[in-house]
Amino acid sequence: MKAQQALYIDGVWCPAEGRDTIDVVNPVDEQVIGQVPAGNAEDVDHAVRAARAALPAWAATPPAERAARLAALRDVLVARKDEIAGTITAELGSPLAFSQAVHMGTPIAVAGSYAELAATYAFEEKVGNSTVYHEPIGVVGAITPWNYPLHQIVAKVAPALAAGCTVVLKPAEDTPLTAQAFAQAVHEAGVPAGVFNLVTGLGPVAGQALAGHPDVDLVSFTGSTAVGSRIAATAGAAVKKVALELGGKSANVILPSADLARAVNVGVANVMSNSGQTCSAWTRMLVHTAQYDAAVELAARAAAKYGDRIGPVVNARQRDRVRGYIEKGLAEGARLVAGGVEPPSERGYFISPTVFADVTPEMTVAQEEIFGPVLSILRYEDEEDALHIANGTVYGLAGAVWAGDETEAVAFARRMETGQVDINGGRFNPLAPFGGYKQSGVGRELGVHGLTEYLQTKSLQF
Ligand code: NAD
Repeated sequence: MKAQQALYIDGVWCPAEGRDTIDVVNPVDEQVIGQVPAGNAEDVDHAVRAARAALPAWAATPPAERAARLAALRDVLVARKDEIAGTITAELGSPLAFSQAVHMGTPIAVAGSYAELAATYAFEEKVGNSTVYHEPIGVVGAITPWNYPLHQIVAKVAPALAAGCTVVLKPAEDTPLTAQAFAQAVHEAGVPAGVFNLVTGLGPVAGQALAGHPDVDLVSFTGSTAVGSRIAATAGAAVKKVALELGGKSANVILPSADLARAVNVGVANVMSNSGQTCSAWTRMLVHTAQYDAAVELAARAAAKYGDRIGPVVNARQRDRVRGYIEKGLAEGARLVAGGVEPPSERGYFISPTVFADVTPEMTVAQEEIFGPVLSILRYEDEEDALHIANGTVYGLAGAVWAGDETEAVAFARRMETGQVDINGGRFNPLAPFGGYKQSGVGRELGVHGLTEYLQTKSLQF
């Protein structure tokens, strides 16, 4: 897709006030593939004013009509699936088949789910002698990361629009072309001017201006815990609602009764998918001491099969950061059984699929989010030990439990301090609430829980 030298505000592509631009780089060959405007605080203000002006009419639009626009948006995404998948591959580096199946498949399903929810959700209910109205919160400032560039946008914009909110989006610097393609799709879907606005730009400039804008009612942020906590502090000072989807360091707990080979192979695939740049990836594999050596061997073999087929990480900074973690793992005494710091290819931001054994719970590679294709395998003595290790980080976004018997796995999962757990390889469900315990975030996305984040209640008593 050709980059737009403009921002999408009030239904038109308009030049940015700021003269600065952002280079978009293909992480496979390090070539610049386009440039987009780096919007500044004035651009953000322009977009927020457009969103504010469009709010009364959109909030008053019957839910069935909002649902129709969302269904049209889903249809445009379906029609442009291959083209947008190509854009995602060009700026994120993910293999094309993965972009088509996951980077496009998920947001199409999510957009469809909100078309249905907008049409069926009870925006008005009776509670005793009261009528309770579920009203839109207002103008939403949405700030998104690059790792699932379209999904992260749709997971915010679709429920916000379904709720009757208007939106200003500040997407990640690395993947602005996907955001531009989304803005085109919104336009084609006939969403009225000002309901959705796009300002590309730098986090500390455009992102910060959006998070701190006095006329934004809700800031919905997905990204790192460090930036999220700063945004929450700014919003808190202004008594503004925030929704935060932050980092993770999820545990994949393999109980002794599980099918070990399946649990390990699916676990490795989960971590390597999207080059490890998945907030909910199960980057800590917990194995009983009696099965530990067998699991390490299986994991090393599984990881070695991937080679550079997983694609690069998004940029040079991320590559260096991941390499730094691998070096730290070695320095702290973890045993490398696959991959390492040597790149599998000279060009591009590639990292070899890497597996560490003999990782102990306090090591950096067991505690911090690496956001690259790096798996740590930890040993546990018994179930209590496994639970203690699984819950022993500041994060609580996701996880997995494997056992011979589902009841046994569920009993363990219920004791995990985390927002999502896959039982014996359970599939991702775009309708299930997604979000974190502890420092993994505040609030939930997807399904009906994601919709209610954008609603506030008004009760009338009779
Ligand atoms: P990041 O926090 O650096 O950036 C995320 C977004 O915030 C970008 O749009 C960026 O421009 C913007 N930003 C940066 N500084 C800002 C500031 N001072 N004020 C306002 N906005 C600012 O994160 P990243 O490196 O882009 O993404 C990786 C992180 O995102 C990982 O920690 C990952 O776990 C997390 N993540 C979480 C989820 C989830 O659902 N929980 C999903 C995807 C990614």
